[in-house]
Amino acid sequence: MPDDNEFVFASLGGLGEIGMNCALYGYGPARARKWLMVDLGVAFAGEDLPGVDLIMPDLGFIEKAKNDLVGIVITHAHEDHIGALAELWSSVGAPVYMTRFAAGLAEARRLGEPGAPKIPMKIVAHGETVAIGPFAVEFIAVAHSIPESSALAIRTPAGLVVHTADWKIDPVPIIGPPTDEGRLKALGDEGVLALVCDSTNVLREGESPSERDVAKTLAWLIAGAKGRVVVTTFASNVARLRSAAEAGFAAGRQVCILGRAMERVVAVARECGMLDGVPPFSGMDAFERLPRDKILALATGSQGEARAALARMAEDEHPTAELSAGDTVIFSSRTIPGNEKAVGKIINAFVSADVEVVTDRTALVHVSGHPRQAELAKMYAWVRPKIAVPAHVEPLHLTEHVAFAKAQGVPQVLRAFNGDLIRFAPGDASVVGKIASGRRLKDGEILLPVDQECVGQRRRLSFAGVVSIAVALTPKGEMAGDPDVMIAGLPERTREGAGLDEIIDATIFETFEGLPRGKRRDADFVSTAIERAVRNSVNAVWGKKPQVHVLVVEV
Ligand SMILES: [Zn+2]
Ligand SMILES: [Zn+2]
Repeated sequence: MPDDNEFVFASLGGLGEIGMNCALYGYGPARARKWLMVDLGVAFAGEDLPGVDLIMPDLGFIEKAKNDLVGIVITHAHEDHIGALAELWSSVGAPVYMTRFAAGLAEARRLGEPGAPKIPMKIVAHGETVAIGPFAVEFIAVAHSIPESSALAIRTPAGLVVHTADWKIDPVPIIGPPTDEGRLKALGDEGVLALVCDSTNVLREGESPSERDVAKTLAWLIAGAKGRVVVTTFASNVARLRSAAEAGFAAGRQVCILGRAMERVVAVARECGMLDGVPPFSGMDAFERLPRDKILALATGSQGEARAALARMAEDEHPTAELSAGDTVIFSSRTIPGNEKAVGKIINAFVSADVEVVTDRTALVHVSGHPRQAELAKMYAWVRPKIAVPAHVEPLHLTEHVAFAKAQGVPQVLRAFNGDLIRFAPGDASVVGKIASGRRLKDGEILLPVDQECVGQRRRLSFAGVVSIAVALTPKGEMAGDPDVMIAGLPERTREGAGLDEIIDATIFETFEGLPRGKRRDADFVSTAIERAVRNSVNAVWGKKPQVHVLVVEV
């Protein structure tokens, strides 16, 4: 009997967009394939989706095949890799594998969210290999902007794939080992079928600086600061928190944490020994209690999040932490595209209050956690794959990474998007089909399909408001009393000063009077006629068409 086992790959998220990473590896004959999921992340919704917080991958495909899903491996605890696990896990229910730090964070978060499901997690250390169905999955240490990031070596009888997830090369990552070059080279010697690799910084030349360089800059800035110092960064960047805290202690300051997310990360990091040797942090009250040059705060809110500690300080609304002229705020972060306005508002508020602001534009206070071209070139040289699949990308980076991988001598480079089903083996690699993929929107407590009308409606309401009209009709087809009109989101007056409410009232009467007598008893007809006429008359004086809802009741 011929061996009809195939090794395939597809993504439900993360190929062709930034965020909501979710990859699937499949092994077996097409009719009876076993699946391994790698990561289950979220993306953040922009202003085009008003009211929606998060976007998650649509797991419909794997929900249908959930009996064949042998496990979910989480590469690291960034939201774009783990953020949808709590919400979506119960729909597929497979065992979950991750490192101790990621599991600690997931558990800390679960305890903060009443009703969140308890997910069975298996803790795996770097260097370990776990058998998950037909896959043997080895966790390999890589440097990144969060502790315990893992590249995965995924072995099947049909070959070995290296899934890098997010990584960079950093000789001194401050916390944890550097990227395990020796192990990756050994895999290259063994023979790697495919490399699925991070594309985030493929457009940038050279190598990214080390966390150690950032630590030095922070130490220098903090040693020279006169007033209070606040360092804001991503809550999960423990290496950065450690560098900033050490710089504070070295300058004779106490260190406190402002922000729940950061407190949670610090607690887990301490448990995992990542802050060994760093003295205990002070309570929030230290910020008020201590002399200004004796305190350093680590704060959440580097992306301008309105409810985070930093925004509240900028607005003078933080219950304990207040800044004044001569204090310093260091943004040890990069502003994620889409957040520029919110961050700019905070910076302007501080600068107006004569608080000194330092960002990565003026000092080396941040480095990316993703590989630039020289680092990518090393990865390709170590692993020497037969096939390359660029991942973690927007389309522009994807095209660039395809060209880059070809230039590194990879024989087959595939340009794949979410839902493309790629066969790695047997035979030449190619896209052999499509699987269902898409997005779901987290809207309050509800998970919406992406085509749900309500979000578009919300956008239209925010653009042109709504007019609600109630009309009562007698059996004879006459109006019983004046119509009730409620207007929201429209200007009160036209350019010439006429009241919009009067224009709307007049339109309702004129329209009704203009209807043939026989039609005035037809509620649907009356409603449609008034709706259309009001929309048009408002458009004539305003230049915009509101939503118009007409309710006709027969009395
Ligand atoms: Zn990522
Ligand atoms: Zn990451």
